[in-house]
Amino acid sequence: MRHYRTQRGLTLDRLGELVDTVPSQLSLIENGKREPKLSLLTRIGEALGVELAELLRSEPPDERSALELELARYQRSSLYAKTNLPVVKVPRGTPTPMLEALVGLHRELARAASEKIATPEEARRANTELRAWMRERDNYLPEIERTAEQLVAKTGHTSGALTHREVSIMAEQLGFTLIYVSDLPRSTRSITDLPGGKIYLPPSSIPGGHGLRSMALQAIAHRVLGHTPPGDYENFLRQRLEINYFAACCLMPESAAVAYLAQAKKNRELAVEDFRDAFGVTQESAAQRFTNLATRHLDLRVHFLRVGDDGAIYRAYENDGLPLPTDVTGAVEGQYACRKWIARSALSQASHTTEISQYTDTPAGTFWCSTQTGTAGSEAFSITFGVPFDDAKWFRGRETTNRAKSFCPDPECCRNPPTDLASHWSGNAWPSARLHAHVLSPLPEGEFPGVDDNELYEFLERHSQG
Ligand SMILES: [Zn+2]
Repeated sequence: MRHYRTQRGLTLDRLGELVDTVPSQLSLIENGKREPKLSLLTRIGEALGVELAELLRSEPPDERSALELELARYQRSSLYAKTNLPVVKVPRGTPTPMLEALVGLHRELARAASEKIATPEEARRANTELRAWMRERDNYLPEIERTAEQLVAKTGHTSGALTHREVSIMAEQLGFTLIYVSDLPRSTRSITDLPGGKIYLPPSSIPGGHGLRSMALQAIAHRVLGHTPPGDYENFLRQRLEINYFAACCLMPESAAVAYLAQAKKNRELAVEDFRDAFGVTQESAAQRFTNLATRHLDLRVHFLRVGDDGAIYRAYENDGLPLPTDVTGAVEGQYACRKWIARSALSQASHTTEISQYTDTPAGTFWCSTQTGTAGSEAFSITFGVPFDDAKWFRGRETTNRAKSFCPDPECCRNPPTDLASHWSGNAWPSARLHAHVLSPLPEGEFPGVDDNELYEFLERHSQG
């Protein structure tokens, strides 16, 4: 409209007179802030001598207009708003090269921003923010707790381990059938065919069936929690956290789990392994679930760690002040746990079938921790759950005589090698480093970060025909 108006040499005032409308209204329409009625649009078309269809075309009338529209779009973006720079209008007389330069800068800004999202630093930053956000909430999300509790109750489940059958019933009640296939794309854990009402999962013959219940619940969770394509890494991580949380809530429903744990606390017999066995889940799921409920329901501040056999921390949570190692971005994942911690030292001891406990003095006070070691594939790992000294009294294993002193992050604690070893070997050793496979890596961009769209759509095509 502006294009034809200025081409005809008409001011807003003059056009206003011709179509019997105040100029401010026309300005709003030209700036895309007001939708004109069809009757007014028809009069405008007549006044400008342009077909109505021409005015309604979505393509810009010429290259100059295309640039102006692109600039306006960029200036409205949330990315530009973050720069706190002014939104500027481009006067008619602005030379086109100047406009091109301005739009070119915006394009570059947008490109650099999307590139940054795909870097490990951005991934780690997003992960650290999310951990801080959960810590503020004591790792407890009441809405998801309630949703899961209601859905589990509807299956008729009352107590103990949630069965495969009950998970299928949950899916059915939400309009989905669980289908086990052996050709899921490598970049996915499950795929949901929304209109078809099918959730595809890996074959049920995979050892450790509880992982499968969890995966099915996570797939259901995306629907139950109303997730939309994540768009950015932060959202991707948030959704992943929420679906994990939902699955844990279903496997260990709040009211049953709290009743169980509260009774154990009363008996001074709290133990992650008992909680694990009562609900038929893994040590890691039980320990993590314990952290969700501990502060809100049991008045306990706690910590949780998963440490790999290389000594690096894979997952961690604390709201009890345990001094976790962090890198410059504040990330814990990939940092080495103190060698004095039981989470680390248990890995170098002979294998244990039950949990082992230890009191550890740290610069932030004394903590009681209980660790269980296990293996995933060829890699050993340890799962640790712990509390500050004063709360050890509620836990089985409180009578342990294992004691250790940790000074980390002081490098003299366990980072710096002993002087005699260092003087003997320094300059005489040449190791080749192994890369951490678990360090958060950037994911390919797309609607669903990390998922190969091509493989995804091929898979759905293959299965929807059958
Ligand atoms: Zn140390």
